[in-house]
Amino acid sequence: MAESLEIDREMLSRVEEVIKEVLLPKSSEDPELIENICLSAQTLSKNQAVSPIIDRTSGLVEYDLNGSYVKSEDALKALSLLEDLGMVKREPASAVLKCPKCGSTRLRPYFVCRFCGSPLVIKTRLIQHVVCGYTGEEEEFTKGKRLICPKCGLELKQEGVDYIVIAEVFKCLSCGARQRNPEIEIECLDCGNNFKPLEGKYELLYKFEPTDIGFHLWRSGLWELAFFKLVAEELGYRARVNARPPIPGAEGYSYNIEIRIRVGLRRIYRIYIDSEPFLHEAFGDRSAAIARLKANIMREGREVYVLIAMPDWRERYEGSGFVEFNEVISGDPSILLGTKAVIFPSLESEICPQYYSNVKKLIESILANIFGLPQRPRPENVERQ
Ligand SMILES: [Zn+2]
Ligand SMILES: [Zn+2]
Ligand SMILES: [Zn+2]
Repeated sequence: MAESLEIDREMLSRVEEVIKEVLLPKSSEDPELIENICLSAQTLSKNQAVSPIIDRTSGLVEYDLNGSYVKSEDALKALSLLEDLGMVKREPASAVLKCPKCGSTRLRPYFVCRFCGSPLVIKTRLIQHVVCGYTGEEEEFTKGKRLICPKCGLELKQEGVDYIVIAEVFKCLSCGARQRNPEIEIECLDCGNNFKPLEGKYELLYKFEPTDIGFHLWRSGLWELAFFKLVAEELGYRARVNARPPIPGAEGYSYNIEIRIRVGLRRIYRIYIDSEPFLHEAFGDRSAAIARLKANIMREGREVYVLIAMPDWRERYEGSGFVEFNEVISGDPSILLGTKAVIFPSLESEICPQYYSNVKKLIESILANIFGLPQRPRPENVERQ
């Protein structure tokens, strides 16, 4: 237990660092990156590999991120970031030939004569008439649907009996040369460029699989907690990570985050964020009961319990007064009045692409509608770290 606590602490700070250094600065300039990381997380949290595919119409290399097809460069930005974090590993998956000029994979290969370079090359069979010994190309024998020997004038009846096929060859219509292996050239169907195989871009494509630690982290809820912590800090509040037994005397620890908001000298508000996967890891079947208990002891109007729940949370919290995040953002803020507990979905759920902005919406909604605070705290009212 102590060892995995160490790993989690170290990984938490790395996840946090990436969110802080990379994701947050890019959330305005490159919102797609965050979306793609969330989509990757969805796939990888199911312990599936993310593999490259080629779109047959556009010829583009794409990655299937949980049902969304994302352009290779965009997906690789997100996946490389996760790779740097040690959460995924790459493996060669296949290779693709691309136009050296425009990068398209929509290509048409064709043959050219290896002697004169002409593209007027046909494929033919060399036939020998056994009866008279004459050998020639199939075209010389063809008369309508029949094969007639140009030398002796007899009709060829049955292959292997009165005639044999010596070889299949290519023949150049420009210079007449026969050859078994003409050169291959390639036409790009998008830009019209013609090139030889060695001039093309031949790229190795990779698939990405979650590492053990990566899979553990997707499932553990650490990533979600890091999002909450950073959004709170971005809003100017103090957020603290706790790792401790969730109830006095309990064995095992759970991670949670506390966002503390101090207004004036005395009034303190608190958002307490728990991750169901963490609770589940430490307490198994008792985790739902522990979450309900913790939600219950929140002080109405001053404290809110947010549970980041696994996708199938519904039956576990039936009738226990948790307000669903979707209802919070669907419009009527009065649903939050008197609420002590909110269910927020984990990264595996469908809200995934807008995870960051949804965390922000929830925190702002709690501040305004449960605590009755202005959306943005004034600096002198904020308890700082
Ligand atoms: Zn091209
Ligand atoms: Zn030729
Ligand atoms: Zn003949």
